[in-house]
Amino acid sequence: MHPQNIVILGTGGTIAGRAANVSDNIGYTAAQVGVEELLAAIPTLAQAGTVLTEQVAQVDSKDMSFAVWAKLAARVSHYLAQPDVQGIVITHGTDTLEETAFFLQALLAPAKPVVLTCAMRPATALAPDGPQNLLDAVAVARHAGAQGVVAVCAGVVHGAADVQKAHTYRLDPFTSGDAGPIGYVEEGRLRQLRSWPQAQAGRVQAAAGTIASLASTAVPRVEVLMNHAGAGGAIVQALQAQGVQGLVVAGTGNGSLHHELEAALLKAQAAGIKVVRASRCTAGRVLPTPADAIPDSDGLSPVKARVQLILQLLA
Ligand code: ASP
Repeated sequence: MHPQNIVILGTGGTIAGRAANVSDNIGYTAAQVGVEELLAAIPTLAQAGTVLTEQVAQVDSKDMSFAVWAKLAARVSHYLAQPDVQGIVITHGTDTLEETAFFLQALLAPAKPVVLTCAMRPATALAPDGPQNLLDAVAVARHAGAQGVVAVCAGVVHGAADVQKAHTYRLDPFTSGDAGPIGYVEEGRLRQLRSWPQAQAGRVQAAAGTIASLASTAVPRVEVLMNHAGAGGAIVQALQAQGVQGLVVAGTGNGSLHHELEAALLKAQAAGIKVVRASRCTAGRVLPTPADAIPDSDGLSPVKARVQLILQLLA
């Protein structure tokens, strides 16, 4: 293989979506177009060095599953271990992109770049955004010194721990919250503002056992709950009765909880269920106090805290 290979793994999403009408940007079916075909729409990619492709999955990312994550993590690990692979790009739906990005970073902490990219408009749109996003993602994967799992969309590079879908429709739907983006891609060049996600030596090799567990049926059940006006404890009791192993609660504000919900969560915690307190606010983080009876999510959003807890329970 060429020493500067980029591997593009297809998983589906709107970037691979098809609509019956070119001016329909929402009434489409996601995950229809193969990754090879997506590349064919970008002739300049072939001029920029060797690009290999593999279709790992073809799903609307709202339906993302542990089985797909296990397969994806296995293929990403495989390619990361190849000395002639410079970086990996993953085409993905926007809906759960932040969960997949965080999952891969938490699991693999790679020393090479793993760049997730996506689109808000289907491939058949009058003016699709996917081709430029894919081109920008490859530019980031080729950038000397790039490392870790990042997302590239609308010319913005977000770190896996910070990226969050914050808009339902705009072509630039992601935010990195308080952290801000890692950088911007402008005409194929990266203007970097802050550091890459941290790499950890040996993590890719060490992840093999976790990947195998994810592929099995024994994935721990961790659910996300939300605090809100009138919240009670019944949902906690129902989940406890079903054998839930972990609960992440999206608290209000600084992780605050309705006293009835909190009482139920404390009982669940005393019974051995792992409970974590995040916030339903999209920015900021839960600031711990010495009086906290339920641990906070260490700055992670509820869905990312859930991924973290699943990985902890698997370990
Ligand atoms: N439902 C789509 C998905 O996440 C949305 C998108 O890709 O923008 O796969």
